[in-house]
Amino acid sequence: MKNVILLHGGAGSLYNEVEVHSRLLTGFSKNALAFHTPLEITIESVRQMEDHPDFNAGTGSVRRLDGCIQMDAAVMELGNFGAVMNIEKVRNPVLVARDVMLHSPHVILAGDGAISFARVMGHQEYDPGTQKTEDLWKRTKEMLNSSAQDIPARIIEYRKYSRLFDQVRTTDTVGAVCRMDGKFAAAISTGGASPMIRGRVGDSPIPGSGLFVGKNGAVAVTGLGEEIIRRSLSSSIYHRIGKEPLLDVLKSEISAFGESATGAIAVSGEEYASFANKFMSTGHTEF
Ligand code: ASP
Repeated sequence: MKNVILLHGGAGSLYNEVEVHSRLLTGFSKNALAFHTPLEITIESVRQMEDHPDFNAGTGSVRRLDGCIQMDAAVMELGNFGAVMNIEKVRNPVLVARDVMLHSPHVILAGDGAISFARVMGHQEYDPGTQKTEDLWKRTKEMLNSSAQDIPARIIEYRKYSRLFDQVRTTDTVGAVCRMDGKFAAAISTGGASPMIRGRVGDSPIPGSGLFVGKNGAVAVTGLGEEIIRRSLSSSIYHRIGKEPLLDVLKSEISAFGESATGAIAVSGEEYASFANKFMSTGHTEF
């Protein structure tokens, strides 16, 4: 069985972007093979996607309703996990998540604590905003027909804005899974799913929701974090590995999400597969 690195660029992208991004991701997956463990290969893949402004992760992350950028990222291998939630002003959240796993006594750091830790680990202050996400934020606020400041106060009404998830494109979250010599790893990074208020955490940094790695494989998913967390999507996929063909498992689990853009990539000991109910760019390299 060959080793493989498999990447995704988010479910719900535009068709023409999917073609371009899939070529990019294939290139990124090849570049990542300069590294020599499944963990390092997935992290390097995600780092490259974070640095590309087209993706909603690192540079190019979407803004929250108050205009700030807070990002989530996670890395996982068998028995090991690290994540950051709501981290701000760093270039590569996935590298901070790696540092949480490898160089801290904790597995998850959030908010100000995550930022302070990042600085201690040498991650310089960096503005991940782009003109594209600035424009998207302005459009989102126009659609909500309300000042950004009002929204947190009206949190109880917030659910009614969920229909906007379909209308305002904030997809393009990124993830990677790798199988190498019988070992597995996953890494994932996102600016989140707009519209969202400051402090919102999606599925991406939650093991069993945004990603999962065990002795039988690795899974990374994308879509509306709230729905993914309610269904523990990565864990649900993982626990069916080896019992049915991998692609069938992905299709069946994602069918529960209806029209809400949802996608997954997964590797097992024998297979690798990707599936999304809306356009999702993917790239892979066997090695
Ligand atoms: N899952 C991410 C979140 O909800 C967004 C995405 O995958 O597009 O934060």
